[in-house]
Amino acid sequence: MKQKPDNPVCVLKTNRKAAVLAPSSLACLSKIPTINLTAGCAHGCIYCYARGYSQYPGEACVTLYANTLDKLKAELRRKRKRPLAVYFSPSSDLFQPVPEVLELTFKILDFLFHEKIGVAFLTKGAIPNAHMELIRANASLVQAQIGLITLDENLARILEPRAAVPEQRLQQARMLVDCGIPAHVRLDPILPGITDDEQSLTDLVQALAGAGVKTIAAGVLFLRPAIVESFKRHLPDRQMMRDLLQRYRAAQAMKMAGDDFFISALPLPDRSRIFSRLETLARPLGITTKICACKNPELASASCSIAGEWNRAMEAPAQPNLF
Ligand code: SF4
Repeated sequence: MKQKPDNPVCVLKTNRKAAVLAPSSLACLSKIPTINLTAGCAHGCIYCYARGYSQYPGEACVTLYANTLDKLKAELRRKRKRPLAVYFSPSSDLFQPVPEVLELTFKILDFLFHEKIGVAFLTKGAIPNAHMELIRANASLVQAQIGLITLDENLARILEPRAAVPEQRLQQARMLVDCGIPAHVRLDPILPGITDDEQSLTDLVQALAGAGVKTIAAGVLFLRPAIVESFKRHLPDRQMMRDLLQRYRAAQAMKMAGDDFFISALPLPDRSRIFSRLETLARPLGITTKICACKNPELASASCSIAGEWNRAMEAPAQPNLF
C-alpha cells in the first residue's frame, strides 16, 4: 500500500496518565526531561523508529495527550527543582500538520517560556508563523535541530510524506540562525544507496552552508522489523528496496547506548565511509559534523547534542509560582 500524503490524519484524544516530563533512556537525553505531545507522528516518515513502539497508533493516526498542559503545570508545581530545559519530540514532532497538535504546542511553548524553562526540539515540520514569532521572542531559551536528509522533493515526499518540503526546512533553519538560536541540522537517517551519494551530500551541505548552518549531526539508517516492513510497503522502487536490504545483509546487531533494544546497523566500514564522505564535504564549508554516538559507539563518544547544550550557568533565577 502506498502512502497518500493528502489523506487526512486521524486524531485520537486521550488523557495521559503517566508523567509529562519523562526521563529518556537514551544517554544523550539524560540531562533534561523529554515531552511527547502525541503517540505516533503525522509526518509518517517511512524510516521512523517509533513505528516499532507499543503505543504506535498506526499509519496516519496520532494519539494526542490532551491534558498535557494541565498535567505539566501540576508536575512543575510539585517539583522542588525545576528542569533547566525540556526536550520535545524524541519520538513524535511538535510541529506536525495537525491543528490540535499545533495549538497544544503553542500553549506549552508559551507556558515554558513564561516560566523561563528552556526548550530544545527537533522538527521536520512546518513551523507556523505564530510559533516562529514566539520562538523568536524567546530566542535565548531555545536550541533547535531541523531534520533534513535530502533536497530532492520527490524523494522527500516518499520518505517523509507529511513533513515540510526541504526548501521550507532550509528557510526555517536560516530564520532560527538569523535570530541567534543555536540551530543544527540533523541528517539522520542517511539512507545508504539512496541519499548518501557524493552529489546529493554536496548539494545538501552547500545549501546548509548558504543557510548559515554551522553544525550538522548525522546518523545512518538502522533497521528494526517495523522499519523494514514500512520500507516494503512504501518504497515504490522495488529495486531500490532490494539494494537497500542487500547493504544490510551483513548488518551488525547493536544495542543503542542507554537503551535496551537491538538494532541492525550498517556494517562499520560502510558507515565510516559515509561519515567521512560527509565530513570531507562539510569541513571546507565551515560546517562541523557530529556523529550520533548512541548508534555509533565505535565511531563517536561525544554527544551529537540532539537536545542542545545546557548548563546551569544559563539557568534563570527561580520564578514566583504564578499558576
Ligand atoms: S518526524 Fe520524526 S517522529 Fe515524526 S514520523 Fe518523522 S522520524 Fe518519526
